[in-house]
Amino acid sequence: MIINDKEFGEVIVRRSPLARGVKFTVSTSGRLAMSVPKHTSDFLAKRFLNSNRKAIREKLPIKDPNEQRARDYQKKVLMKKAREYLPYRLEYYAKRYGYTYSKCRLTHANTRWGSCSSNRTISLNIGLMKVPEPLRDYVILHELAHLNHMDHSKAFWAEVGSHDKNYRSHEKKLKMFNPGV
Ligand SMILES: [Zn+2]
Repeated sequence: MIINDKEFGEVIVRRSPLARGVKFTVSTSGRLAMSVPKHTSDFLAKRFLNSNRKAIREKLPIKDPNEQRARDYQKKVLMKKAREYLPYRLEYYAKRYGYTYSKCRLTHANTRWGSCSSNRTISLNIGLMKVPEPLRDYVILHELAHLNHMDHSKAFWAEVGSHDKNYRSHEKKLKMFNPGV
């Protein structure tokens, strides 16, 4: 459920069978999220919100409603760009260097640029559309190399280096950017 709140904007209410009490957090969009026990009524959820207003205001970095909407929009734009680019770029490099993967997934996690799972799915963060092309390519080559080495061993880095000889500086430069949208 979503509560439209004058002060906090859209508040996400998550009903969870595991929740014992009420817990307030900030979602990745900067919205206030509250988890409540499964059978909590809308009325009660609103009451919890009202009675905790002061503590929330003081403790949680909630974005104002305009910023929440701006972030949604930015994410939509990035997702569109990413969809039209990343799967094709991945396919291009896979063909060029003879890798086979099963699927390309686009993600928007806050913490990682990409990942490669044991079922050969490669995930790429849509935030890659915000970084310079050589760094973007580096991430793609890094994840492709994981198809052969599921670790960061010497052999893994040697393989990355055979496709991108500046991989060390690319890895370092990437740290100046944040994968989150
Ligand atoms: Zn890695």
